[in-house]
Amino acid sequence: MNYTCPVCGFPEMPFPPQDNNICSCCGTEFGYHDCSLSHSQLRQMWIGRGAPWFSTALTAPPDWNAAKQLKEFLSNPSQLQPR
Ligand SMILES: [Zn+2]
Repeated sequence: MNYTCPVCGFPEMPFPPQDNNICSCCGTEFGYHDCSLSHSQLRQMWIGRGAPWFSTALTAPPDWNAAKQLKEFLSNPSQLQPR
C-alpha cells in the first residue's frame, strides 16, 4: 500500500503521512512539522528550497521529477486531504 504525501504529492510513501513518519521526498515529519504549519505552507517552503529530494537512505525514483509530481498532484484536488 502506498500513500501520497499531502505536502509534496510523492505517491509512493510506504507508510501513512502521520505518526512521525518522514516523507522521503520532501522531508516533512508528520505529526511534528505539520503541527504548527499547514501542508500548503510546508509545500511552499519545500518549493522555496528548490524542491529537493530529501532522503539520503532512499534514492529518488529514476524518473522522479519534482515539478511534474507537483503539477500532477495539484491538478487533482481529490488528493488534497483536509487536515
Ligand atoms: Zn513529501
